[in-house]
Amino acid sequence: MNTISLAPPTDRECPAIDSKSTKSWPSQRRPLDHAAVQHAAHDLLVALGADLETQGLRETPRRMAAAYAELLTPEPFNLTTFPNDEGYDELVVVRDIPFQSLCMHHVLPFYGLAHVAYLPAERILGLSKLARVVELFARDLQLQERLTTQIAACLHAQLQPKGVGVVLEAEHLCMSLRGVQKAGAKTVTSALHGLVRDDPRTRAEFLSLTGGSTK
Ligand code: ZN
Repeated sequence: MNTISLAPPTDRECPAIDSKSTKSWPSQRRPLDHAAVQHAAHDLLVALGADLETQGLRETPRRMAAAYAELLTPEPFNLTTFPNDEGYDELVVVRDIPFQSLCMHHVLPFYGLAHVAYLPAERILGLSKLARVVELFARDLQLQERLTTQIAACLHAQLQPKGVGVVLEAEHLCMSLRGVQKAGAKTVTSALHGLVRDDPRTRAEFLSLTGGSTK
């Protein structure tokens, strides 16, 4: 059994990924400063014209800080892998993993479902860990494309499977509440590695299992 500790938020990056390719990712950020967030939330509300003496608004800076802390802090977990003793060589797919994240352009939520699959090689992974990896990268200021890539790259690097596929479908509040105001519109992104990308049969199986419409 191999165990790799992932201790967010400062070690958000998947440890085995080549550091050169990940360094510029903004999730290499400082730990969240709770007091500073609360202070800034207070100032933001005042700038928005809110009267913080109003009943109901007094505690809002504190609540905002707590909400952001929760949305941006994944639970630490161990990415535990096991030898693939049975030689299982079909796709392992976990569908419909709910996730929520904050878009880095508007700091508004986007949320939806992740479908994650891998084709095992030497090692397999506890199924719940796929959802953990999604959460690790979702609880960040994110772009959906980048989130998709990070999940796939992490699994590819840690598990070294024969293939990885990730499909994310999400609604972005910055699109549905403002801007073009298309409520219910879903953005679909995907990242495919190895045989999930290159082998037509595996790719077709992955896309039919996940409902992905990628080409
Ligand atoms: Zn946005």
